[in-house]
Amino acid sequence: MSSNPTAVTHEVTNQVPPLAGHDIADDPVLLEGVRREGAAWSLDDLHRIGRRAGSEEVQRWADEANRFEPVLRTHDRYGNRIDEVDFHPSYHALMDVAVGEGLAGSAWADERPGAHVARAAAFMVWSSTEAGHGCPVSMTYAVVPALRHAPDLAKIYEPLLTSRVYEPGLHTPGGKRGLLAGMGMTEKQGGTDVRANTTSATEQADGTWRLRGHKWFTSAPMNDLFLVLAQAPGGLSCFLVPRVLPDGSRNTFRIQRLKDKLGNRSNASSEPEFDDTVAWLVGAEGKGVRTIIDMVTMTRLDCVLGSAAGTRAALAQAAHHARHRSVFGAKLIDQPLMRNVLADLAVESEAATTLALRLAGAADRTQRGDEGERAFLRLATAVGKYWVCKRQPVAVAEALECLGGNGYDEASGMPRLYRDAPLNGIWEGSGNVNALDMLRALAREPESLEAFRTEIEAAAGRDQRLDAAWQELQGELVLTEDAPLRARRVIERAALVLQGALLVRHAPAAVADAFCASRLAGDRGLAFGTLPPGTDFAALLERLPA
Ligand SMILES: Cc1cc2nc3c(=O)[nH]c(=O)nc-3n(C[C@H](O)[C@H](O)[C@H](O)COP(=O)(O)OP(=O)(O)OC[C@H]3O[C@@H](n4cnc5c(N)ncnc54)[C@H](O)[C@@H]3O)c2cc1C
Repeated sequence: MSSNPTAVTHEVTNQVPPLAGHDIADDPVLLEGVRREGAAWSLDDLHRIGRRAGSEEVQRWADEANRFEPVLRTHDRYGNRIDEVDFHPSYHALMDVAVGEGLAGSAWADERPGAHVARAAAFMVWSSTEAGHGCPVSMTYAVVPALRHAPDLAKIYEPLLTSRVYEPGLHTPGGKRGLLAGMGMTEKQGGTDVRANTTSATEQADGTWRLRGHKWFTSAPMNDLFLVLAQAPGGLSCFLVPRVLPDGSRNTFRIQRLKDKLGNRSNASSEPEFDDTVAWLVGAEGKGVRTIIDMVTMTRLDCVLGSAAGTRAALAQAAHHARHRSVFGAKLIDQPLMRNVLADLAVESEAATTLALRLAGAADRTQRGDEGERAFLRLATAVGKYWVCKRQPVAVAEALECLGGNGYDEASGMPRLYRDAPLNGIWEGSGNVNALDMLRALAREPESLEAFRTEIEAAAGRDQRLDAAWQELQGELVLTEDAPLRARRVIERAALVLQGALLVRHAPAAVADAFCASRLAGDRGLAFGTLPPGTDFAALLERLPA
């Protein structure tokens, strides 16, 4: 009999130590991508952000920001409307670092080539610890090119949107040291179909406008400025709506309620109503979609970055668990079948990260006037948004399973990664919308297909499976009457061919080979962990993060 029975029953063995105190940026796939896309100069900063993101303190912030959710206060104690949202201090701490590290608008004020790549990589690293606060950060990043359609407004607000100061609270925008932006497009009767918007806009004698109507989803309602779509006499138009007017009074922005969401719980998503709400026109009247699309293009890019980051964060947890947990006398990472699962996830994640950074590089070069990159970005953003975001929930679920029952326990952090995983596939254009957007690009902007072709053919002759898949895809890219019906098949193949071409050119041979064998040649099962015999598993496992 034991002299200390309590100690015996509570002995803890074979449990995995927490994954903390590491540098999330210490990741070969990420670092190679950042160098390749022209932001090697940012690596010291990236490692600093990576060490911070991997710290226990920031992991606690992430947990608390989601556990203690934003709370809406519609009225003060006297019955006056105030429409404030309270966030936990940990949310503010996350935001403070994000804005301070330049993840919001500051890349637009940075002349250095690669500034948008540096920002993209830092966004991936930082948001992989907590994705929810990435929403206001992304929208603030994305609003700048759209706001430039109104040069007078951009002159006032751009310096504050590109600031590195996080100053929460409703104050006169001009009196703050830094601003955050959001967007209001989606209404009850239509999100994708914004033409169905019923919010109306009426011009005033002083050149301002008044909005009346509702929005069904408007995230981060405590932000300072919003781009809002509304119907003007000349058609659907884009307006700037500040929460506080230049004279210091509150604009009418009645937050009816906050959404009770599957995930993304640290972020507030609201239903605002506008009534005599003061607004300024951005871009030409009747050209609202054309104006706000410059914001949506950038938030779509952030969806790809966010999904690649979420996939990699889940894989890091799975790899860490497998390195420390033993079953049947051997570490999980040495069990052949687990090696196949992790290697397959590693291939998926490397393909996602490589494509995400390629898009960030294209965005950066587009800002610097590269028309070829603009054309590439047009088609490749739709393709990347569709595929990388669609794969994230599947990959995260598989990574969660690698932890066994512990992965189902909130304390592991995996349930949060899982709940957050489907979101990037929905907002900023859901799966079908991106598939149809690809068709639109093919029909209206043939130069985007030419740029795509150039990208794929840079890898020509290096892998016969890639060459064959590209050959087949070219036939499918022809716009026939049944193109909408086939669009998902085609965009999926386009994404795989693009990822294959990038990996063949840039990844270690074992990664490219495994990708082509399993994703392009069709020699695989449907779940992860079905890489064919002959795969160089040891080489693939060297690409695991953390
Ligand atoms: C957490 C969260 C936060 C959000 N924040 C914001 C925000 O800040 N601002 C904002 O404006 N919106 C926001 N949204 C809304 C989001 O952008 C929309 O939900 C999304 O664009 C889809 O629009 P919808 O919900 O009206 O769906 P619908 O437009 O009704 O689409 C439903 C489905 O039909 C598909 N579909 C649409 N058109 C076609 C077609 N022609 N052919 C085939 N299929 C089609 C879509 O892909 C989708 O799967 C947010 C959403 C979420 C979940």
